[in-house]
Amino acid sequence: MREESRPRKRKHIPVDIEEVEVRSKYFKKNERTVELVKESKINKDLQNYGGVNIDWIKALKPIEYFEWIESRTCDDPRTWGRPITKEEMINDSGAKIPESFLPIYNRVRLMRSKVKTPVDAMGCSMIPVLVSNKCGIPSEKVDPKNFRLQFLIGTMLSAQTRDERMAQAALNITEYCLNTLKIAEGITLDGLLKIDEPVLANLIRCVSFYTRKANFIKRTAQLLVDNFDSDIPYDIEGILSLPGVGPKMGYLTLQKGWGLIAGICVDVHVHRLCKMWNWVDPIKCKTAEHTRKELQVWLPHSLWYEINTVLVGFGQLICMARGKRCDLCLANDVCNARNEKLIESSKFHQLEDKEDIEKVYSHWLDTVTNGITTERHKKK
Ligand code: SF4
Repeated sequence: MREESRPRKRKHIPVDIEEVEVRSKYFKKNERTVELVKESKINKDLQNYGGVNIDWIKALKPIEYFEWIESRTCDDPRTWGRPITKEEMINDSGAKIPESFLPIYNRVRLMRSKVKTPVDAMGCSMIPVLVSNKCGIPSEKVDPKNFRLQFLIGTMLSAQTRDERMAQAALNITEYCLNTLKIAEGITLDGLLKIDEPVLANLIRCVSFYTRKANFIKRTAQLLVDNFDSDIPYDIEGILSLPGVGPKMGYLTLQKGWGLIAGICVDVHVHRLCKMWNWVDPIKCKTAEHTRKELQVWLPHSLWYEINTVLVGFGQLICMARGKRCDLCLANDVCNARNEKLIESSKFHQLEDKEDIEKVYSHWLDTVTNGITTERHKKK
C-alpha cells in the first residue's frame, strides 16, 4: 500500500509586483467558490450576435472588412506589453475573479509581447492570408465571403494536425483551384463543390484523418449552399451543425470570420494552463468545454479573444506540457506550479541586480529567444 503523502514545506516567496496568494497544486482548496455554472445571461446575449450587425459586415468592401476584423481580433503581441489593471477586470456576471489571475496573466502577456511563437507565425487565423500571399493573391482581391470560407476550411484541416501541415494542405487546395479550376481567388465554395472527394483527400493527405476531413469539407460546402446562403454561419449553433467543427474552432471561426466574440476558444494549452493555475476547477474541468464554460463565468469579455493567443504561444514556448521552462519564466515568482529546483539552478535566478528590470528582461530575452525570431520586438 502507498504511504500517505505528507504536506510539503514551502518557503515563502515574496511577490514584488502585486500581493497574491501563492497556491500549491498539491493541496486541494475547500474554499473554492467558483463552480461550474450554466453560462450566464451575458453569454447568451453575446451569442445573439453580440451586437454585431451581420448585414453591415456582409456589405463591407474587402479592405474595410479586414480592418473591422483586425479591430475586433488584434493579434499584435506588442499590445500585450502593457499590464492590465485591476480596474479593467470587470465582468458582467459579478463572479469572483481568481486572485492569482492578474499577477500571472500580466507576466505571461509581457513574455508574449517579447517573443514570437509558432501560433503567431502559422496559427489557424493566419492561414488565409499566408496562403493568399504565397499564391500572389492580393488581399483587396479576396471577397470577404471567400476569406471566411478559407478560414473555416483552415480550422477544419487543423484538427489534431501541426500548423505547418495544415498550411500545406490549404496551399494545395488553393493551387488546385487556381491552376486546375482556374478560379482566381483560390478556395471558393464553387471550387470546393467541383473538386471530387478523392482528389480533395489526395490534396490534403499531409494532414491527419485526411479522408474523413475531405468528406467533412465536401458535406460542409453543400450545407453552406443549402442552409446558410453560401456563406459561413454567424451563430454558434449554425457553426456546430457543420460536420467536423467543434466549439473550439467554432468560436474562433465566429471571431475571425465575423468579429463576433461569442465564446472563448479553449484549446489544449488554454485548458491545461487554466487548470494548472487553478483559474478553473482542475477536478471538475475534465474537458476543454468545461474549462470554457467556467472561464466565461468570470473572465472579462474584453479578454475572451486574446486569452487564446496569449496562452497558446506561452504553452508552445515556455510552459510546455513536458519540459516547462520555469527557469526562464517571468511568472515563476507567482506561479503555484513552479519547479523550484529549475528556478534555483538558472542563470536568470542568479542575476545579482534583480532590481534592474531592464537587465533582467534583456538577460531573459537573450536566453529565451535563442533560435526564435524577435527582431520586431528588440529595443531600438
Ligand atoms: S513555466 Fe513554470 S513557473 Fe512558468 S507558468 Fe509554467 S509552471 Fe509556472
